[in-house]
Amino acid sequence: MKTNRTITRAFCIELQQELSIVAARREYFSQEPPRARFSFLCSSEPCRALGVKITGVRYDVKPQEHPTFVAAHYRANPNYEHHADCEWVDEAVKTPVAQENETEAESELRKLKRKLDDYIDVFDPTPKERVKSTSPTDKPDAEPTEKAEDATLPADALKAKQDKQNRTSNLERLVDSFRQAQASLTKEELALLTLRIPGQGEVSLRAYFRHIKFAQLNDERRVLYGGGLVERYGTGFKFKFFDRLQGKLVTLYVSPAQMQAYRSSRYLSELLSHADEVRFFTVFALGKLVASPSGKSVSVEIEDLRHLAIVLGPAKDAEEVAAKGPAS
Ligand SMILES: [Zn+2]
Repeated sequence: MKTNRTITRAFCIELQQELSIVAARREYFSQEPPRARFSFLCSSEPCRALGVKITGVRYDVKPQEHPTFVAAHYRANPNYEHHADCEWVDEAVKTPVAQENETEAESELRKLKRKLDDYIDVFDPTPKERVKSTSPTDKPDAEPTEKAEDATLPADALKAKQDKQNRTSNLERLVDSFRQAQASLTKEELALLTLRIPGQGEVSLRAYFRHIKFAQLNDERRVLYGGGLVERYGTGFKFKFFDRLQGKLVTLYVSPAQMQAYRSSRYLSELLSHADEVRFFTVFALGKLVASPSGKSVSVEIEDLRHLAIVLGPAKDAEEVAAKGPAS
């Protein structure tokens, strides 16, 4: 059968793990060059047993600001049929008519979500503790799967599929979803999207992201973002936002020790290595603003490096790069 749900997870053969496309991108760029592309199978067991392949699109492109934004995503491979029990096959999704008991607003929201490659319903900001492992092979953070829900009575299976929610604790995945929503929806449409945060309830997706120039010192924790430049301190770095807050410089500092302890530090370093080729970086940080003891500047403090996502700014043109001369 053909899939008709948006495919948000796949099984990576090389990593022997089910993961989102954003997690696949991180793993891809964590490899030492030359990097090998991955092969993906459908995440559903019966399809995997049949060797049903899934295509990973643009996971080998670094996240970057671009006028024609195309999100990394999974796509069904037209050469493969999926098993009838596949989690991405859902006859009900095909019906264009409004679903039963659905209000107009719910129907509109459902259509908006379908426009996005990886709409996130629930974001759990508490990073999952790594599974204790004695194995030296470090596995990527697994995405929670919702297979348990599929194991309900067969009569409820269809309902379970419809109710299935996209849930993640991967900030970068939420950031990609937000960036795609910003790029492809109108302001009014974007305003309709909500996000559920365990322990915090339902919030507007738009309001969960706050540009640094509109941030406040006593705001509750949310995703602060803005453009700026990076200074390296060995393996660590300091990010300086362009926008000031009440006239004060805003920075985000990551020490070499924090970088060394972080399993995706190679990925972050890889992104930051393009400093001479891009006009700026955009940083997304789930954290709080703290005034420095001197009162002269403000820092963005994050509890965990998993609460940081970096997007490359637009590339400098050739003249700008030439004018800079050899890297000092
Ligand atoms: Zn399948």
